[in-house]
Amino acid sequence: MRFSCLIVAAGQGLRAGPGAPKAWRDLAGRPVLRWSVEALQAAGASETVVVVAPDRLADLDEALAGWGGWRAAAGGPTRSQSVAAGLAQLSGDAAEPVLVHDAARPFVGRGHVEALLAALAAGADAAAPALPVSDTLKRLDGDRVETVAREGLWRAQTPQAFRLGALRKAYAALGGGEATDDLALIELAGGRVALTPGDPMLMKLTYPEDFAMAERLAGGARITRIGQGVDAHRWGPGDGVWLCGVRIPHDRSLVGHSDADAGLHALTDALLGAMGEGDIGEHFPPSDPQWRGAASEAFLAHAAALVAARGGRIVNVDVTLVCERPKVGPHRAAMRARLAQILGLPEGRVSVKATTTEGMGFTGREEGLLAQAVAAVETLA
Ligand code: MG
Repeated sequence: MRFSCLIVAAGQGLRAGPGAPKAWRDLAGRPVLRWSVEALQAAGASETVVVVAPDRLADLDEALAGWGGWRAAAGGPTRSQSVAAGLAQLSGDAAEPVLVHDAARPFVGRGHVEALLAALAAGADAAAPALPVSDTLKRLDGDRVETVAREGLWRAQTPQAFRLGALRKAYAALGGGEATDDLALIELAGGRVALTPGDPMLMKLTYPEDFAMAERLAGGARITRIGQGVDAHRWGPGDGVWLCGVRIPHDRSLVGHSDADAGLHALTDALLGAMGEGDIGEHFPPSDPQWRGAASEAFLAHAAALVAARGGRIVNVDVTLVCERPKVGPHRAAMRARLAQILGLPEGRVSVKATTTEGMGFTGREEGLLAQAVAAVETLA
């Protein structure tokens, strides 16, 4: 389902103590607001608008470096004015779902988004994740302490989901007024509001001590996935071979519909496997004439782009070439450098190895060459 996102990061966050506003502070190596942009885009947002204070607009390019598909909007002096400014930037029609999210909740995930979109699809006018209040509540009135019944009380979180037209209308009706919670506007207008399962991971960074907890949670917000790939090509007549993006002079060539670079094919499959995205044959069908004689570097670059588009990062890759000849050793450094360049990785995270099978099997009889690869990819959970 198509949906838009509005990420609100225009606040000063005064309760978070001295230093940069909380959305701009570092959390496990990335600005807080970047966590939400990456997560919501990885969850499939078709349009993302990030609302920041006007004097921060120039800083967004750096905070979101290497990450596309977002636009900036200048916020206003209050949260409501910032949301209204962001809504004006969205191009979807009235029925398009829009998620409004506080940048200070960095651990939003695909599951939260799917539950909200499902609630809208089931007929709700608005939806928000919410947790039942579990602590005993006290009211302090002067020096008098009393216990407040917590039954039926829920803590609303973000993102909150709406239809774009209805939210725009609610903000128009608000005029210059202020709402601390967008859901409340739909409640007041008599709309149907649904609560989806809340999550302690949707914690809001409010106080200085919240950052210490978030740093600890940041480790659990991403998972490591492993993929493996295998490819083999038959030897045929020729004068050289492409292996891991490097041309090696040889007394024969590998046969294939592309450049038959088995190393690149195995590694491409390893990355696709890590992402659960099928195999190279699905992405580049051999029956499609546009891939005839193609440089296989394009296949690997495609797989790497797919990892990035899902909010992932390649941790490391390892390729093993199995053949009696040609000798791979003299070309290993060049292969490693080429793979690192295609993947945008430091060479230290790329490995190329080679072995023979001591004359045994199809590689030993020099009928063909075998390549195997593994790749580790870190993605949002
Ligand atoms: Mg192949």
